[in-house]
Amino acid sequence: MRLVSFSTPDHTARPGLVLGDEVVDLSHASTGLPATMRALLALGPGVMEGVRAAGIGRAPRYARAGVTLHAPVPDPPSILAIGMNYRAHVAEMGRETPKWQYWFNKQRTAITGPGDPIVLPTVSEAVDYEGELALVIGPRCQHVPADRALEVVAGYTVINDVSARDWQWRTPTFTMGKSFDTHAPCGPELVTGDELGDPGRLGIRTWVNGELRQDSSTADMIFGCADMIEYLTTAFPLEAGTIIATGTPAGVGAGFSPPRFLAHGDVVRIDVQGLGELENPVVQGRAPRPVGLN
Ligand code: ZN
Repeated sequence: MRLVSFSTPDHTARPGLVLGDEVVDLSHASTGLPATMRALLALGPGVMEGVRAAGIGRAPRYARAGVTLHAPVPDPPSILAIGMNYRAHVAEMGRETPKWQYWFNKQRTAITGPGDPIVLPTVSEAVDYEGELALVIGPRCQHVPADRALEVVAGYTVINDVSARDWQWRTPTFTMGKSFDTHAPCGPELVTGDELGDPGRLGIRTWVNGELRQDSSTADMIFGCADMIEYLTTAFPLEAGTIIATGTPAGVGAGFSPPRFLAHGDVVRIDVQGLGELENPVVQGRAPRPVGLN
């Protein structure tokens, strides 16, 4: 199945089921389902029967072309991302193949949806794209062995791990450079594992203004999806709706000489096989103003 978070002019973001060129409103009272994607995912695989039933029930349907799509999980409890996880990307960055999984956080506030602008902050001169496969976690889980790890994945989607390289490289930890507002575009759809098949053999490509920059396969990953979940959940639980960005292949802007960072007016498009395309325009941000002060 293919799920989205969508809104219409008269109503805020809510979960929907994609059927052909239509979206079924899963939050409608007739479905008996929760009104948010996170609450839906927390119910686990058993809820998918109810989702399927909603597709043939009385819930309203909208033309997909007429609704606004948001990030599939618009309010993730956390966004975890792995660095240096594609062999060819490790080589282009001049690094050693990592012995351990290299995890960092993107702040959850960075999330944004398909079609939304990637804003270039005035304080960075080096904003870069990273096309990635993203996993979305179902019910809260911990201590999950690798051989059962894909059972806790509610679905798969596309993420752009946008990175302010100058900020990222100032310090050994990446949180600042990876977390500027709008720097986690995600979507367009959340595709369940039964529909997608093996996440370890997917083509992954990124274009900037129609020029192909990244062209690889998830088969080039050093640590696979199941290994990532086992490793993370050894230390802490993953909550429903958590997004895991699984690393980027070779071809990022920083890998070129000279580097090719994003500029106002660019358009970044990422395609992960079976998951659809995530496209976002790039716009120059304005001088920031304080928020939250009287
Ligand atoms: Zn990344």
